[in-house]
Amino acid sequence: MIDLRSDTVTRPTEPMRAAMARAEVGDDVYGEDPTVRDLEEHVADLLGHEAALFTATGSLANVLAVRALVPPGREVLCAHDAHIARAELGAHGAISGVTMRTWTAGPLALDQVRGMYAPDLGPYFVPTAAVSVENTHNFSGGRVLPVEDLRALRGWADEVGCALHLDGARLWNAAAATSTPLRAYGELFEAVAVCLSKGLGAPVGSLLVGPESLVAEARVWRKRLGGGMRQVGVLAAAGRYALDHHRERLGEDHVHARILADACGVDPATVETNMVVVPDVDAAAVVAAAGEAGVRVGAVGARTVRAVTHLDVSRAQVEEAASVLARALASTRPTAGGS
Ligand SMILES: *Cc1c(COP(=O)(O)O)cnc(C)c1O
Repeated sequence: MIDLRSDTVTRPTEPMRAAMARAEVGDDVYGEDPTVRDLEEHVADLLGHEAALFTATGSLANVLAVRALVPPGREVLCAHDAHIARAELGAHGAISGVTMRTWTAGPLALDQVRGMYAPDLGPYFVPTAAVSVENTHNFSGGRVLPVEDLRALRGWADEVGCALHLDGARLWNAAAATSTPLRAYGELFEAVAVCLSKGLGAPVGSLLVGPESLVAEARVWRKRLGGGMRQVGVLAAAGRYALDHHRERLGEDHVHARILADACGVDPATVETNMVVVPDVDAAAVVAAAGEAGVRVGAVGARTVRAVTHLDVSRAQVEEAASVLARALASTRPTAGGS
Protein backbone atom coordinates (compact mmCIF):
# COMPACT_ATOMS: atom_id res chain seq x y z
CA MET A 1 0.00 0.00 0.00
CA ILE A 2 1.13 3.52 -0.82
CA ASP A 3 -0.35 5.56 2.01
CA LEU A 4 -1.10 9.19 1.12
CA ARG A 5 -3.80 9.82 3.73
CA SER A 6 -1.53 12.02 5.80
CA ASP A 7 2.10 12.83 6.52
CA THR A 8 1.51 11.44 10.02
CA VAL A 9 1.74 7.84 8.78
CA THR A 10 5.54 7.71 8.51
CA ARG A 11 7.49 5.16 10.55
CA PRO A 12 10.81 5.89 12.23
CA THR A 13 13.78 5.02 10.04
CA GLU A 14 16.57 2.73 11.24
CA PRO A 15 18.97 5.61 12.01
CA MET A 16 16.18 7.42 13.85
CA ARG A 17 15.54 4.29 15.92
CA ALA A 18 19.26 4.09 16.64
CA ALA A 19 19.24 7.69 17.87
CA MET A 20 16.26 6.88 20.09
CA ALA A 21 18.00 3.82 21.50
CA ARG A 22 21.09 5.73 22.55
CA ALA A 23 19.32 8.82 23.92
CA GLU A 24 20.36 9.95 27.37
CA VAL A 25 17.26 10.23 29.52
CA GLY A 26 16.04 11.41 32.93
CA ASP A 27 12.73 12.29 34.57
CA ASP A 28 11.39 15.17 32.51
CA VAL A 29 8.74 16.13 35.08
CA TYR A 30 11.73 17.00 37.30
CA GLY A 31 13.28 18.79 34.29
CA GLU A 32 16.05 16.18 34.26
CA ASP A 33 15.87 14.71 30.79
CA PRO A 34 18.88 16.12 28.93
CA THR A 35 17.61 15.06 25.50
CA VAL A 36 14.26 16.79 26.02
CA ARG A 37 15.96 19.92 27.32
CA ASP A 38 18.30 19.95 24.37
CA LEU A 39 15.38 19.61 21.94
CA GLU A 40 13.42 22.37 23.68
CA GLU A 41 16.39 24.74 23.58
CA HIS A 42 17.12 23.91 19.98
CA VAL A 43 13.56 24.49 18.75
CA ALA A 44 13.18 27.70 20.79
CA ASP A 45 16.37 28.91 19.15
CA LEU A 46 15.25 27.90 15.64
CA LEU A 47 12.12 29.99 16.09
CA GLY A 48 13.84 32.91 17.78
CA HIS A 49 12.07 32.46 21.12
CA GLU A 50 13.22 32.12 24.73
CA ALA A 51 11.78 28.74 25.60
CA ALA A 52 9.91 25.66 24.38
CA LEU A 53 7.90 22.82 25.86
CA PHE A 54 7.82 19.28 24.47
CA THR A 55 4.27 17.91 24.22
CA ALA A 56 2.80 14.60 23.15
CA THR A 57 0.70 16.15 20.38
CA GLY A 58 0.21 19.30 18.36
CA SER A 59 -3.30 19.56 19.72
CA LEU A 60 -1.91 19.75 23.26
CA ALA A 61 0.63 22.39 22.20
CA ASN A 62 -2.21 24.42 20.68
CA VAL A 63 -4.43 24.01 23.74
CA LEU A 64 -1.59 25.16 26.01
CA ALA A 65 -0.73 28.07 23.70
CA VAL A 66 -4.27 29.36 23.33
CA ARG A 67 -5.06 29.05 27.01
CA ALA A 68 -1.88 30.94 27.85
CA LEU A 69 -3.03 33.84 25.67
CA VAL A 70 -6.79 33.73 26.21
CA PRO A 71 -8.33 33.71 29.71
CA PRO A 72 -11.57 31.77 30.29
CA GLY A 73 -14.62 33.62 29.03
CA ARG A 74 -12.69 35.38 26.29
CA GLU A 75 -12.36 34.58 22.63
CA VAL A 76 -9.77 33.76 20.02
CA LEU A 77 -10.43 34.68 16.38
CA CYS A 78 -9.42 32.17 13.71
CA ALA A 79 -10.30 30.88 10.23
CA HIS A 80 -13.53 28.89 9.99
CA ASP A 81 -11.54 25.85 8.91
CA ALA A 82 -8.68 26.24 11.40
CA HIS A 83 -7.44 23.05 13.03
CA ILE A 84 -8.07 24.60 16.47
CA ALA A 85 -11.71 25.23 15.51
CA ARG A 86 -12.50 22.01 13.67
CA ALA A 87 -10.10 19.27 14.56
CA GLU A 88 -9.31 19.49 18.27
CA LEU A 89 -12.63 18.12 19.49
CA GLY A 90 -13.66 21.39 21.09
CA ALA A 91 -10.78 21.26 23.59
CA HIS A 92 -10.42 25.04 23.78
CA GLY A 93 -14.01 25.34 24.94
CA ALA A 94 -14.30 22.08 26.83
CA ILE A 95 -11.05 22.47 28.76
CA SER A 96 -10.00 26.12 28.64
CA GLY A 97 -13.35 27.95 28.65
CA VAL A 98 -12.33 29.86 25.53
CA THR A 99 -14.81 30.74 22.77
CA MET A 100 -13.99 31.25 19.11
CA ARG A 101 -15.26 33.43 16.32
CA THR A 102 -14.20 32.56 12.85
CA TRP A 103 -13.53 34.39 9.61
CA THR A 104 -14.40 32.91 6.25
CA ALA A 105 -12.32 34.69 3.62
CA GLY A 106 -9.31 32.38 3.53
CA PRO A 107 -6.54 31.28 5.87
CA LEU A 108 -5.76 34.88 6.86
CA ALA A 109 -8.26 37.68 6.28
CA LEU A 110 -6.86 40.75 8.01
CA ASP A 111 -9.75 42.96 6.87
CA GLN A 112 -12.23 40.61 8.49
CA VAL A 113 -10.06 40.31 11.59
CA ARG A 114 -9.99 44.10 11.97
CA GLY A 115 -13.77 44.22 11.83
CA MET A 116 -14.25 41.32 14.22
CA TYR A 117 -11.76 42.37 16.86
CA ALA A 118 -13.68 43.46 19.97
CA PRO A 119 -11.58 43.66 23.12
CA ASP A 120 -14.12 45.73 25.04
CA LEU A 121 -17.60 46.22 23.65
CA GLY A 122 -19.28 46.47 27.02
CA PRO A 123 -20.90 43.96 29.34
CA TYR A 124 -22.63 41.79 26.72
CA PHE A 125 -19.85 40.84 24.36
CA VAL A 126 -17.07 38.31 24.66
CA PRO A 127 -13.77 40.22 24.73
CA THR A 128 -11.25 39.19 22.08
CA ALA A 129 -7.90 38.22 23.54
CA ALA A 130 -6.01 36.69 20.61
CA VAL A 131 -5.93 35.85 16.92
CA SER A 132 -4.75 32.44 15.72
CA VAL A 133 -3.48 31.55 12.24
CA GLU A 134 -2.18 28.35 10.73
CA ASN A 135 0.88 27.99 8.48
CA THR A 136 0.79 25.95 6.39
CA HIS A 137 -2.98 25.96 6.37
CA ASN A 138 -4.16 22.36 6.44
CA PHE A 139 -7.74 22.39 5.20
CA SER A 140 -7.03 24.73 2.31
CA GLY A 141 -4.55 22.16 1.02
CA GLY A 142 -1.28 23.08 2.70
CA ARG A 143 -1.29 26.70 1.63
CA VAL A 144 1.51 28.96 2.79
CA LEU A 145 0.67 32.24 4.48
CA PRO A 146 3.02 34.81 2.98
CA VAL A 147 5.34 36.28 5.60
CA GLU A 148 4.43 39.81 4.43
CA ASP A 149 0.78 39.12 5.30
CA LEU A 150 1.83 37.85 8.70
CA ARG A 151 3.92 40.99 9.23
CA ALA A 152 0.85 43.07 8.42
CA LEU A 153 -1.10 41.04 10.99
CA ARG A 154 1.65 41.67 13.55
CA GLY A 155 1.61 45.38 12.79
CA TRP A 156 -2.13 45.52 13.38
CA ALA A 157 -1.86 43.41 16.55
CA ASP A 158 0.78 45.75 17.97
CA GLU A 159 -1.43 48.76 17.26
CA VAL A 160 -4.42 47.32 19.08
CA GLY A 161 -2.60 45.19 21.68
CA CYS A 162 -3.82 41.78 20.54
CA ALA A 163 -1.87 38.55 21.11
CA LEU A 164 -1.08 36.21 18.20
CA HIS A 165 -0.88 32.43 18.11
CA LEU A 166 0.62 30.44 15.25
CA ASP A 167 -0.42 26.85 14.68
CA GLY A 168 2.74 25.87 12.87
CA ALA A 169 2.15 22.11 12.72
CA ARG A 170 3.69 22.31 9.24
CA LEU A 171 5.68 25.50 9.59
CA TRP A 172 8.71 23.52 8.40
CA ASN A 173 6.97 23.02 5.05
CA ALA A 174 6.13 26.72 4.78
CA ALA A 175 9.73 27.67 5.53
CA ALA A 176 11.06 25.12 3.03
CA ALA A 177 8.65 26.14 0.29
CA THR A 178 9.51 29.83 0.53
CA SER A 179 13.12 29.67 1.79
CA THR A 180 12.02 31.82 4.72
CA PRO A 181 14.00 31.43 7.95
CA LEU A 182 11.89 29.90 10.72
CA ARG A 183 12.66 32.88 12.93
CA ALA A 184 11.08 35.27 10.47
CA TYR A 185 7.81 33.51 11.24
CA GLY A 186 8.49 32.79 14.90
CA GLU A 187 9.25 36.37 15.88
CA LEU A 188 5.79 37.54 14.78
CA PHE A 189 3.89 35.50 17.38
CA GLU A 190 3.60 35.32 21.15
CA ALA A 191 3.17 31.56 20.99
CA VAL A 192 3.93 29.01 18.28
CA ALA A 193 3.07 25.31 18.11
CA VAL A 194 5.11 23.03 15.84
CA CYS A 195 4.82 19.29 15.12
CA LEU A 196 7.66 16.81 14.66
CA SER A 197 5.28 14.00 13.78
CA LYS A 198 4.09 15.27 10.39
CA GLY A 199 6.39 15.87 7.44
CA LEU A 200 9.51 15.56 9.57
CA GLY A 201 8.73 11.91 10.19
CA ALA A 202 9.13 11.58 13.97
CA PRO A 203 6.74 9.04 15.53
CA VAL A 204 5.44 11.51 18.11
CA GLY A 205 6.05 14.96 19.53
CA SER A 206 5.30 18.63 19.19
CA LEU A 207 6.52 21.78 20.88
CA LEU A 208 5.01 24.96 22.19
CA VAL A 209 7.44 27.86 21.76
CA GLY A 210 7.28 31.28 23.39
CA PRO A 211 8.59 33.57 26.11
CA GLU A 212 10.01 31.99 29.29
CA SER A 213 7.03 33.02 31.43
CA LEU A 214 4.43 31.68 28.99
CA VAL A 215 6.25 28.37 28.65
CA ALA A 216 6.65 28.05 32.44
CA GLU A 217 2.90 28.46 32.86
CA ALA A 218 2.23 26.01 30.03
CA ARG A 219 4.49 23.48 31.75
CA VAL A 220 2.25 23.60 34.82
CA TRP A 221 -0.87 23.20 32.68
CA ARG A 222 0.66 20.35 30.72
CA LYS A 223 1.13 18.46 34.00
CA ARG A 224 -2.32 19.46 35.22
CA LEU A 225 -3.86 17.96 32.08
CA GLY A 226 -1.95 14.73 32.53
CA GLY A 227 0.67 15.49 29.92
CA GLY A 228 3.80 15.38 32.08
CA MET A 229 6.08 12.66 30.74
CA ARG A 230 9.07 10.93 32.32
CA GLN A 231 12.07 9.42 30.45
CA VAL A 232 10.80 10.87 27.24
CA GLY A 233 14.21 11.65 25.82
CA VAL A 234 13.79 8.55 23.66
CA LEU A 235 11.03 10.43 21.83
CA ALA A 236 12.79 13.78 21.87
CA ALA A 237 15.77 12.06 20.25
CA ALA A 238 13.56 11.00 17.36
CA GLY A 239 12.38 14.59 17.02
CA ARG A 240 15.90 15.96 17.07
CA TYR A 241 16.97 13.40 14.50
CA ALA A 242 14.03 14.44 12.32
CA LEU A 243 14.93 18.12 12.58
CA ASP A 244 18.56 17.47 11.73
CA HIS A 245 17.98 15.04 8.86
CA HIS A 246 14.53 15.44 7.39
CA ARG A 247 14.00 19.17 7.13
CA GLU A 248 16.12 19.67 4.04
CA ARG A 249 14.28 17.02 2.07
CA LEU A 250 10.81 18.56 2.49
CA GLY A 251 11.14 20.17 -0.94
CA GLU A 252 11.03 16.66 -2.45
CA ASP A 253 7.60 16.12 -0.91
CA HIS A 254 6.47 19.38 -2.50
CA VAL A 255 7.68 18.27 -5.93
CA HIS A 256 5.92 14.93 -5.40
CA ALA A 257 2.67 16.67 -4.50
CA ARG A 258 2.78 18.62 -7.77
CA ILE A 259 3.23 15.38 -9.70
CA LEU A 260 0.11 13.98 -8.02
CA ALA A 261 -1.78 17.22 -8.63
CA ASP A 262 -1.04 17.10 -12.32
CA ALA A 263 -2.39 13.53 -12.54
CA CYS A 264 -5.52 14.54 -10.60
CA GLY A 265 -6.42 17.49 -12.81
CA VAL A 266 -5.40 20.01 -10.14
CA ASP A 267 -3.22 22.90 -11.32
CA PRO A 268 0.23 22.08 -9.87
CA ALA A 269 0.89 25.81 -9.52
CA THR A 270 -1.76 25.89 -6.78
CA VAL A 271 0.04 23.20 -4.79
CA GLU A 272 2.41 25.05 -2.49
CA THR A 273 3.58 22.28 -0.17
CA ASN A 274 2.88 18.57 0.39
CA MET A 275 -0.90 18.36 0.04
CA VAL A 276 -3.19 17.93 -2.91
CA VAL A 277 -6.89 18.57 -2.48
CA VAL A 278 -9.12 17.28 -5.28
CA PRO A 279 -12.57 18.90 -5.20
CA ASP A 280 -15.87 17.93 -6.85
CA VAL A 281 -15.46 14.18 -6.76
CA ASP A 282 -17.37 11.29 -5.22
CA ALA A 283 -14.91 11.05 -2.35
CA ALA A 284 -15.96 7.64 -1.02
CA ALA A 285 -15.85 6.11 -4.51
CA VAL A 286 -12.40 7.55 -5.25
CA VAL A 287 -11.03 6.37 -1.89
CA ALA A 288 -12.41 2.87 -2.57
CA ALA A 289 -11.18 2.66 -6.18
CA ALA A 290 -7.70 3.95 -5.29
CA GLY A 291 -7.58 1.61 -2.29
CA GLU A 292 -8.29 -1.41 -4.45
CA ALA A 293 -5.39 -0.40 -6.64
CA GLY A 294 -3.03 -0.05 -3.67
CA VAL A 295 -3.16 3.69 -2.92
CA ARG A 296 -4.72 5.11 0.19
CA VAL A 297 -6.04 8.67 0.09
CA GLY A 298 -8.37 10.44 2.51
CA ALA A 299 -11.88 11.84 2.14
CA VAL A 300 -11.94 15.28 3.77
CA GLY A 301 -15.56 15.92 2.84
CA ALA A 302 -18.19 14.07 0.79
CA ARG A 303 -16.91 15.70 -2.41
CA THR A 304 -13.22 16.23 -1.57
CA VAL A 305 -10.25 13.90 -1.54
CA ARG A 306 -6.84 14.70 -0.09
CA ALA A 307 -3.44 13.20 -0.82
CA VAL A 308 -0.39 14.07 1.26
CA THR A 309 3.22 13.31 0.37
CA HIS A 310 5.84 12.43 2.95
CA LEU A 311 9.10 10.74 3.83
CA ASP A 312 7.78 7.21 3.33
CA VAL A 313 6.76 7.62 -0.32
CA SER A 314 9.50 7.54 -2.91
CA ARG A 315 9.48 9.18 -6.33
CA ALA A 316 8.67 5.82 -7.95
CA GLN A 317 5.75 5.30 -5.57
CA VAL A 318 4.49 8.81 -6.28
CA GLU A 319 4.55 8.08 -10.00
CA GLU A 320 2.70 4.81 -9.41
CA ALA A 321 0.16 6.59 -7.18
CA ALA A 322 -0.30 9.32 -9.79
CA SER A 323 -1.43 6.81 -12.42
CA VAL A 324 -3.63 4.93 -9.93
CA LEU A 325 -5.32 8.18 -8.88
CA ALA A 326 -5.83 9.32 -12.45
CA ARG A 327 -7.59 6.02 -13.20
CA ALA A 328 -9.62 6.10 -9.97
CA LEU A 329 -10.80 9.64 -10.74
CA ALA A 330 -11.69 8.76 -14.33
CA SER A 331 -13.58 5.61 -13.34
CA THR A 332 -15.65 7.38 -10.66
CA ARG A 333 -16.57 10.48 -12.65
CA PRO A 334 -20.10 10.37 -14.05
CA THR A 335 -19.86 9.71 -17.80
CA ALA A 336 -20.58 12.70 -20.01
CA GLY A 337 -24.23 12.78 -21.06
CA GLY A 338 -25.19 10.28 -18.36
CA SER A 339 -27.99 11.12 -15.98
C1 LIG B 1 -1.86 17.77 12.79
C2 LIG B 1 -2.17 19.17 13.13
C3 LIG B 1 -2.18 19.61 14.46
C4 LIG B 1 -1.91 18.71 15.65
O1 LIG B 1 -2.34 17.44 15.54
P1 LIG B 1 -2.01 16.28 16.56
O2 LIG B 1 -2.56 15.10 15.86
O3 LIG B 1 -2.71 16.60 17.82
O4 LIG B 1 -0.53 16.22 16.75
C5 LIG B 1 -2.43 20.94 14.69
N1 LIG B 1 -2.67 21.78 13.68
C6 LIG B 1 -2.65 21.40 12.39
C7 LIG B 1 -2.87 22.40 11.34
C8 LIG B 1 -2.41 20.08 12.07
O5 LIG B 1 -2.41 19.70 10.80
